[in-house]
Amino acid sequence: MDNFLFTIAQALSWARDELYSHNISDDGLYDSSAIDSKVLLSVCLQREVVYLHTWPEKLLNKLQMKLFKEYISQRSLGHPVAHIIGYRDFWSLRLKVSPTTLIPRPETEILVEIALNLNLTEHSKALDLGTGTGAIALALASENPNWLVTGLDKSSPAVTLAKDNALLHKLERVKFIQSDWFSAVEDRKFDLIVTNPPYIEDNNRYLQQGDVRFEPKSALTSGIDGLDDIRSIVSQSKHFLTDNGWLLIEHGYKQSRQVTDILRAHSFNQIRSERDLNGLPRVTMGCNAL
Ligand code: GLN
Repeated sequence: MDNFLFTIAQALSWARDELYSHNISDDGLYDSSAIDSKVLLSVCLQREVVYLHTWPEKLLNKLQMKLFKEYISQRSLGHPVAHIIGYRDFWSLRLKVSPTTLIPRPETEILVEIALNLNLTEHSKALDLGTGTGAIALALASENPNWLVTGLDKSSPAVTLAKDNALLHKLERVKFIQSDWFSAVEDRKFDLIVTNPPYIEDNNRYLQQGDVRFEPKSALTSGIDGLDDIRSIVSQSKHFLTDNGWLLIEHGYKQSRQVTDILRAHSFNQIRSERDLNGLPRVTMGCNAL
């Protein structure tokens, strides 16, 4: 690898073996060496992944080789691909990411889809609790130019990151504030409150493998049953919802029963759960109907 140049096919094959031998995968279960190698190489070449398939015999230049080796060595240490390349695509948006907050997940797109299908009015007010990169807030705003969207996070670096992403996508009308759940929200009512809060159990073994090891615990875990933050959010939400306003909560795939019970205990109506693309219950919602 050191003294001569590789073709795209050779570089990919080397990288795949390298990552495979380090047992790298994004969730500790499925081997992602092949796809990770392709994404990282496509970024080095500033091309789409399809280019790699079209031009397997093309030679990398020295600079590209150097960068690719650097990327693969970081990935071999376990760093998530999104941290290495600095972004993750979510909905229709390429979002800047950083180790200060959660990397947006494809499951969360279902929450955006459900919110959009509620057919809220053109000038609705929406609040995203624990916005992180700003993913949900920005996706909602990108689809609804007249909505007033606010995103909040208790982490100040996350708020800065979300603002950067808003700027990047010319969605500066989305307001981002630093707030520990509702602590800094003035006495305002929202037609929609959405959240992807931390919901993993404190001692879940899943936290010791794969990419989550590089994400902040504060964005992942929430007490022994993972539901502390959801309980706190549900108990405060009613005060901030309009009549007939909706609360949408992402949760772990085994938590829909408990989240339903929490919503019921706080007199929410029309409670239902929706599945993610893997067929797992992922979002539970309730309406603040009178
Ligand atoms: N869905 C994420 C995961 O399983 C957890 C994100 C969260 O706690 N909100 O890694």
